[in-house]
Amino acid sequence: MTAPPALSELLARSAALHGHLCPRQILGVRMALLAGERLGLDFPRTDKRVLVFVETDGCFADGVSVGSGCWLGRRTLRLIDHGKVAATFVDTRSGQAVRASPQTDLRARARAARREGQKRYQAYLDAYQSWPAEALFDTVPVALALDLAALLSSAGKRAVCDVCAEEIVNERELQRGGQTLCRGCAGDAYVRPPAGREPAPPPEPVGAEG
Ligand SMILES: [Zn+2]
Ligand SMILES: [Zn+2]
Repeated sequence: MTAPPALSELLARSAALHGHLCPRQILGVRMALLAGERLGLDFPRTDKRVLVFVETDGCFADGVSVGSGCWLGRRTLRLIDHGKVAATFVDTRSGQAVRASPQTDLRARARAARREGQKRYQAYLDAYQSWPAEALFDTVPVALALDLAALLSSAGKRAVCDVCAEEIVNERELQRGGQTLCRGCAGDAYVRPPAGREPAPPPEPVGAEG
């Protein structure tokens, strides 16, 4: 068995990927390692056993990926954009899940621990690297309020939208009035034609076929 990578190595990996080392990245790496301990699993992982929900994007999310081995591209990381430096780590085999977040007074404590003349940013960097994980985070066991099986879907599932003809994978299609629709065509679009451009021809009204 190879030993798990040391924190310093993970931080170096994260910094190389991210372009710099910043406090939130450190929080991400260390939060992931603590969650792995709580779940009794080796982190970072290379399999797909763990699914992570990060509650914000940005530097923190990169740290979580490096620390957990869970990535958007591996379908083991999902963004729940609540604007919080927090994440939930789910063992998809046991169903066990733990949510971790920085202790609410963490920044204040890190500032209070500043050395004379030390900048806040450096104080955060130091504290987040050197303090024990138990002094950084709260962790609580949680149950998922969403359908994990539906979220994960299964490999190879494909459908075609009856309106735009684009392919839909992972069972993200909707059935409406006998039609198979992508979410955009079903009204949940996040893009539209730019102002001043001819609008796209309206899609066939749902259920008006035949
Ligand atoms: Zn950063
Ligand atoms: Zn469509």
